[in-house]
Amino acid sequence: MDDKKLMQITLGVPSPWFVKSIELSTSEERIDVYFDFIKGGVFACPICNKSCKVHDTTDSSWRHLPLFHYDSYIHVRVPRTKCEVHGTKTVVIPWSRPDTGFTSLFEVDVVALCKEMPVASVAERVKIHEESAWRILAYRGCPTIQK
Ligand SMILES: [Zn+2]
Repeated sequence: MDDKKLMQITLGVPSPWFVKSIELSTSEERIDVYFDFIKGGVFACPICNKSCKVHDTTDSSWRHLPLFHYDSYIHVRVPRTKCEVHGTKTVVIPWSRPDTGFTSLFEVDVVALCKEMPVASVAERVKIHEESAWRILAYRGCPTIQK
């Protein structure tokens, strides 16, 4: 099994996405995984759900769960569809909510850790700003967690 196929399976990359390339930096203890979508792939308009062709793309990145002891990042050219009714819209990304630099699985992990240890300690452990951890907690509704 090649490394891209292995990554595709372990990350659960949904169609029409696929793992295009992987970069490993042992000095930075970091893995960067680049997704792309199948040429001619269609995506749902985020408003009416109608299948639309891709109008253009914008580059986005998300922090994902660690892979062994390496920090991992997912990079994607995110399509925008051009719906006849709703115009040009950015598609819904299945592994993340809009406007966050973290995958949903990463956020769930942060929430779980914050239930067991102080938020500042979690932020230090997962190497994010403490304010980012608080934003994740606020979005995911964790009223019992104290500073
Ligand atoms: Zn639409």
